[in-house]
Parts: sequence; structure tokens; C-alpha cells
Amino acid sequence: MASLNLNHIYKVYPNGVKAVNDFCMDIEDKEFIVFVGPSGCGKSTTLRMIAGLEEITAGELKIGENVVNDMEPKDRDIAMVFQNYALYPHMTVYDNMAFSLKLRKMPKEEIDRRVKEAANILGITEYLDRKPKAMSGGQRQRVALGRAIVREPKVFLLDEPLSNLDAKLRTTMRAEISKLHRKLQTTFIYVTHDQVEAMTMGNRIVVMKDGFVQQIDSPRNLYRFPCNKFVAGFIGTPQMNFFAGRLKLNKDKVTVTFDNTPVKAEVPVDYFRKVDRSYLDGEKTVVLGLRAEHISADPEKFAYKAKCRVSHFEELGTDCQIYADFNPESETTVAESETRVIAKAAAGEQFASDEIITVSMDLSQLHIFDTETEQTLAPAIPADVTIACKVAKNKLEFAGGTLALPAAASVADGKYSLTIPVGAISFGGALEGVFDREEIINNVRLIHISAGDRILFAIEADKSKVYKQGEAIKFVIDPKKISLTDEEGNKVVCALAEDNRLAGKVAKQSIQVTDENGKKKKDTAFTLLTCGATFECPRAVGLRLVAGGGQNVFNKNLEFVFNPYQVHVAEEGVAAKVERVLDYGEEHFAECSVEEVKVYVRVEKDFAATEVKLSLDTDSIAIIETEHQIRLV
Ligand code: ADP
Repeated sequence: MASLNLNHIYKVYPNGVKAVNDFCMDIEDKEFIVFVGPSGCGKSTTLRMIAGLEEITAGELKIGENVVNDMEPKDRDIAMVFQNYALYPHMTVYDNMAFSLKLRKMPKEEIDRRVKEAANILGITEYLDRKPKAMSGGQRQRVALGRAIVREPKVFLLDEPLSNLDAKLRTTMRAEISKLHRKLQTTFIYVTHDQVEAMTMGNRIVVMKDGFVQQIDSPRNLYRFPCNKFVAGFIGTPQMNFFAGRLKLNKDKVTVTFDNTPVKAEVPVDYFRKVDRSYLDGEKTVVLGLRAEHISADPEKFAYKAKCRVSHFEELGTDCQIYADFNPESETTVAESETRVIAKAAAGEQFASDEIITVSMDLSQLHIFDTETEQTLAPAIPADVTIACKVAKNKLEFAGGTLALPAAASVADGKYSLTIPVGAISFGGALEGVFDREEIINNVRLIHISAGDRILFAIEADKSKVYKQGEAIKFVIDPKKISLTDEEGNKVVCALAEDNRLAGKVAKQSIQVTDENGKKKKDTAFTLLTCGATFECPRAVGLRLVAGGGQNVFNKNLEFVFNPYQVHVAEEGVAAKVERVLDYGEEHFAECSVEEVKVYVRVEKDFAATEVKLSLDTDSIAIIETEHQIRLV
């Protein structure tokens, strides 16, 4: 049993293919995790890096408490099951399963116990004397699972183990593997390109595309809150319907218009509680997404009605799928039409070609995406909320609360838009709202706080605290993180930058060290260079730079990324000019210029210097190789 921690994992193959980019994930003990995505998205590469069959280019992989980047596969306490189960044809099932244990010189009695126990779990006890060729595909795959089980690994890795089986057997084996996971109480990581397999098996699913993780979440959340158009289209059959459209806010309602169709609906603004309101202007084109199951040929099923022209329908037995067009005048075939729609009807219903029917839609299930970026406009965890506010004498009044603005965020009296990032709100404090609801998203607990006529979002780190509907919630807003925009659209207060970035290099020197026996020997020391300053580089950091960047990392351009707490005013370091001191009341930060770059550094209350030297916490900063954008440390 083990947890896993993938910390900024990258894989660049020697031919330059960047197969995995910045993969970050904590996998809990006993979870069933599925990696899913189209062919070539990097899922097998990630699994093979966990197995130790592929070297990790950069990043840190932990199994349990141990960093295993350099650990041999056989020492990692994992077992892998492949698509191609490759049993030894000349050995019996028993010997196939016992083989790896014999290699480890395990006592015979222990091998016998393990093989029989695994055979019992898998229901293949009666086949132990058979040779693989006398077994069906499903039975052979069970033997392949058995070979993994007997090793009693901490983590099971399964790479498309069912793709060689026919459809019916796949469904059976899917259920069996889920059952096996429950029985063994071990961490499973399962790779597949089949979204149905992913949805039915995983506790959490990682959707990948082009080497990038798109979304990590529970099956239910992936289906309900896809983070972008790709995930929305990938998860669920038939594919989600997409339309160009517009949204216009009018008091407590939003008018949804489907472009090039007569379809229009007025829905409660609460459907869009997580949406950035600048998209509700009636001008910007957005992508509207609605699944077939939320559009019904029964005009009374859902609240919003629309007409469409039927092209054809498919009887599926359980229900019926209608292919239609929301634009009754459309001249193109449904396959090509931008306004085509797939809707559902009850099994056995009949529709004529070109028939105009009234469908009803559940628009509370409407998804919206940015046309350019294709990212959702209603992220499961919204980055921030922007609300109207008034400032009088540096007191900010918003959504029923007031917040004293510190000197660093002071502005003239007037009306502003206040942007509050989700991370700016913490619990306890002078502001008060009302608990509205909560959600768990990828193991993060998001609390909806009703404040005046708006909803604010905050993350509750305490997993056990119980909130009741309508309960008052005290909270506080970190003034460093807010921003204010005036009525002309000028940003008059910016959030304090979380990341400082300086260009730099790493160098090495040969040094002499004395070992524990008093013997002198040669060793390597590393230094980090940036903006004319040199910093001693912790050995572990230097080794990770070389491991990820290769021996020519010393010629490469790097970027040092650090927050205002990872840099300090010191005797030695990067020369900087102090532009101003930002007074946030409890905390003060100096805004410094280093060559042309701004760097923010936490300082004491009475800080008044104009020229300073800045020292970096070299054991905690992030280091990026800029050419390939790889985070090496
Ligand atoms: P998936 O398992 O999602 O189908 P892979 O992890 O196998 O994807 O591959 C991810 C990318 O890495 C693909 O573009 C693939 O061509 C490339 N790739 C995989 N293995 C190698 C290799 N040994 N050398 C170079 N490129 C590779």
C-alpha cells in the first residue's frame, strides 16, 4: 500500500519529443486512478516513468516517503500488467504465476501460498495446470493479473490491459478489475484511451492531451464540470453538442442566444454563478455546450423549449437519438451544420425527416467556453470573483461588508470593480457571509459563501469542519491579493506579484573535500548566477539541474522563480534599487528594480533603504530551463 507524489514531472525523449509536461499529482493510498486521453497524449510514458521503465527527465517522483527517480524498477514495489500479456507458452498457469517469485528465491511454501491465493481471488484455481494456449483471452488476462498479484506490490500499474479483448469480455473484466481493487486494497493506476473504461473504473481520472494534463477529477465532476471544450467533448457519448452563442445579463436573468438560430432563452443568473461577468455582455461570442441527455423530444420534460428540424434518428433500444438542426432554414446537411444538435427521445418514438419538432432543454446544465482558448468560463474552482464596490475614505464597501484598505491599496473615493481571487479569502475574521453550499473538486473543498447578492468562493483546508445551510461564515480577505479597477477600466490597484523571475545560469567547480576517514577527494560544487550575483547552490539542487538539464545545463538559460518570501535583503547578493515600499498594514514589501525587472521582497515595517542587495533562498526557489520550458527544480 502506498501513496504517490508526482511533482512537476517531465519527459523529453532523446529525439526531442516532449511527451509529458509538468505533471503534478498526489495519489492517495488505495486510490484507483485512470490516465485517459487519445493515442500519443503521454499516458503510457507517465506510467512507464512511475514503473521505472523510462527515465524521468525532470521532476520528482515519490512512492510512499521515498524519492524513487533513481531507483531500479525491481526495488520500487510495483507490478505492471500490459496490454500484451506475454505469458510463457511452455509453462503452466501455476508456473507463469510463480516465475518471478522463483527468480527472487522465495521459499517454495510461500510461493505456493501466494499463487493459490491469487488463483482463488481471480477464479482460475481449476486452470493452474493448463498451458496458456488452452485458455481464452479473458482467462489469459486473469493469469497476467495473477502474475502481478503474487508479488504483493504496493502499487499496481495497468497499461491498457483489456484492449486485446472483445467488447463483451472487456465489460466483464472491467468489473472484475474494479472488484480486484476493492479486494486487494492497493493503489491502482490504469491507462486507457477508452473514456467509458475511465468513467466506470476510476476514483479519479486524469485526462491528458498532447503531453499536458487537462483535468484531474472524479468521474462525476469531469462529466459535470469539464475544464475545457476538449474534456467536454472527450467525456460522454454521444459527444456534447456545441453552438456559438451569446449571453446577456439583465438584472437577475441571463438571456442565452444560440447564433444563427431562433433559439433564445431567459435563465436565472445563478446558473452562471462561477462565470466572469464580463462574458455576460451580450456581445462576446462564446461556445455553448449542452449534452444530448439534456435536450429532450418531450417538450414538457425540461423548462426551456426550442424548435428544431429533424434529419434522422437512431433507435438505441434504451432510448432514441435524434439528429436535428436548430436552424430550420439550414441548407447544409446535419453533419456539416454549425447548428446541428443531437437530442434524446423515448425508445420507440418515430420521427419523419424534415419534421419540425419542439424539444425541451435543461439549461441549468449548459456549459460555456471561451471561443479562443476553449477553456470553460465556469471553472470548477473559479480563479476569482469580480464584484462592484464603493470606496469612501479608504474603506471598501462591497456585498454587505466593509474592508479597510491598507496604504498600499489606497485609492480615491469612488466606484470600482473589486477582484477577489479564491485564494485571497480565509476563514475567521471580521467579514460575514452565509454558507450556501460546498463541493469537493479534485480533493479540494470549495465553499460557496453568499455575500449580498453575489457568491464568493473560498477553499476550506479543514476537511472535517461541518457547515450548515444558512449558517453565518466569518471570513477575511487578504488585501495583498485583491485588485481594483476604476470606472474607466484602469487597474488602479494590482495584486502583489506572487512570483518574481530573474534570468540566470548554473556553474560548477571542482572542489576538494575530506571524507569521514580524513581522506581528501575531488567533488563538484554548484553555484547559481543571476544579475551579477553568485549564490551557493545546495548540492541536491545542483544534482537535479544536471539530472534534468543534462551535462550541457551549464550552457543553458535558466529562470529563477521565487515569491516575495523566498528573497531577502542581505549583505551580499543581487544589486537592486528600491522603487517604493508597499504597506499592507501587517506586512510590508519593497518593490525593487533589478536591471529592468521588478522584484518584490518582504521587508520590515520601518524599512527605508533606497539601494539594497537581495539574497535568494536557493533551496526553495523554482528553476526553469527557458528554451524548452522545463521546470528542473
Ligand atoms: P499514449 O500512451 O498516450 O498513447 P505515449 O506515452 O506512448 O502516448 O507517447 C507520447 C508521445 O511520446 C508520442 O508523441 C509518442 O510518439 C512519443 N514517444 C513515445 N515513446 C517514445 C520513444 N521511445 N522515443 C521517442 N518518442 C516517443
